[in-house]
Amino acid sequence: MTAVRVPGTPVIEDGRLVSTSPATGAEAGRLPVATAADVEAAVARARAAAAWWAGLGFNGRRERLLRWRALLAKRIEELAELVHVEGGKPVADAIVEVVTAVEHVDWAARNARRVLGPRRVRSRLVLAEFSAHLEYQPFGVVGVIGPWNYPVFTPIGSTAYALAAGNTVVFKPSEYTPAVGQWLVDTFAEVVGEQPVLSAVHGFGDVGAALCRSGVDKVAFTGSTATAKRVMAACAESLTPVLIEAGGKDAMIVDTDADLDAAANAAVWGGLTNAGQTCIGIERVYVVEPVFDAFVDKVVQRAGRLTVGADGTDIGPITMPSQLDVIRRHIDDAVARGGRAVLGGPDAVQPPYVHPTVLVDVPEDSAAVREETFGPTLTINPVRDADEAVARANALPYGLGGSVFGRRRAVAVAARLRSGMASVNSALTFAGMSTLPFGGVGESGFGRIHGEDGLREFAHAKAVTRRRARSLLPAMTFDRTEADVARLVKVVKMMYGR
Ligand code: NDP
Repeated sequence: MTAVRVPGTPVIEDGRLVSTSPATGAEAGRLPVATAADVEAAVARARAAAAWWAGLGFNGRRERLLRWRALLAKRIEELAELVHVEGGKPVADAIVEVVTAVEHVDWAARNARRVLGPRRVRSRLVLAEFSAHLEYQPFGVVGVIGPWNYPVFTPIGSTAYALAAGNTVVFKPSEYTPAVGQWLVDTFAEVVGEQPVLSAVHGFGDVGAALCRSGVDKVAFTGSTATAKRVMAACAESLTPVLIEAGGKDAMIVDTDADLDAAANAAVWGGLTNAGQTCIGIERVYVVEPVFDAFVDKVVQRAGRLTVGADGTDIGPITMPSQLDVIRRHIDDAVARGGRAVLGGPDAVQPPYVHPTVLVDVPEDSAAVREETFGPTLTINPVRDADEAVARANALPYGLGGSVFGRRRAVAVAARLRSGMASVNSALTFAGMSTLPFGGVGESGFGRIHGEDGLREFAHAKAVTRRRARSLLPAMTFDRTEADVARLVKVVKMMYGR
């Protein structure tokens, strides 16, 4: 039976998941849907492959991951085109996404040994007769569950780091972008064909739920906060550790001494790139009063020039058709409650597109300020000073990223944002800095991908002590005498009792 297709909405036909372009409805991918038994079998195969992959050591994995990186770089146009066709993202945005992912594969491959490899750590006087050794060992099999909005960058942020750390990965791509997910798996198999080190299972949310219950050793989830709670509940049943990269409602703060052109440029790009469907996208801007009007003018001028459409434009379609209702509701609610649309507005929603919309003086308790909009919209509200801006930015349960524009106080203001990341005088740039960890606080999740923390996220510490001399003060043995204990008391008072 053939289901009725709404462009962009995935359907299952004859046991196959069919993804389509949200702009044209053209078929983009057709992948077999996994049953719970298929998911378990994929995890069993990944478990068998894990010993081989871990056994290659850091150097063997580095060499293979760097070959994958080279392949991704060489075929960047092909991958960007697939991202464009399947999710609607403008090709230029897709290219930027792949470039960032390639950089992360490179860094994870090159740095895993240094960060995770065996090393001696210092002994302390109290156990000086032992040497101390530390290494970070892989968990085994990691389940990666990904979203559709950055179908390359986001899963690679977990996958590259998990693989570099010595794990194998079973990946459940979003139902909206299964072809991109399978492309990543297939290209990895071109360079690592011996064993199923990276595999994919396709389907709707139930396949993700099956992955959580499949006995994987860790789940790396990226997606909405609501689904994250379900993932955690499923993982709790087997005490499977989870990494949660969830939603956000990031704010930009513009201080009096900011370069307003640069700030407007970053607000428009940070808020509207990928049609605003960005977890770390700028959705709210707080501008100190003296520069508010000038800033809004510059934003409106820039955002008003952006082109909207299927091909060769700045802003593509909304990938997930159901999101159009959320965006419409946020705009309507903001305007109904006294906000002003200085660009776009309720008429901006023209499925499958949303035209750039800038809303000012929007009540702080409205949906457009409090909930993730995930559309090409910005709210801009005036504040007395940077302190009020910080208080408003921090007033939500989310805490993913953020941005601050200014000179004298900007770094200090960025430190006060309740968020896992911040950019000073730019927007979103922390995502591409492979040396920095990526992740949020509060309802934006916990755990980190990228950087040294991102590598450690996919390995557990293994601590070993090794005797190197006889104990002068035997304590951890029943052979100790009363005199030994008395000497111990004396030493501890001498060392720590002052
Ligand atoms: P969803 O939470 O809807 O889906 C995320 C993934 O989880 C999909 O693969 C989905 O499968 C799967 N899933 C759905 N139900 C379950 C379940 N019960 N158990 C296990 N897995 C399940 O998010 P979206 O795909 O809509 O992505 C958008 C969200 O992701 C936004 O909130 C955005 O902010 C966030 N995000 C966060 C990032 C970060 O790094 N913090 C980066 C990118 C996005 P299916 O699609 O088949 O339903």
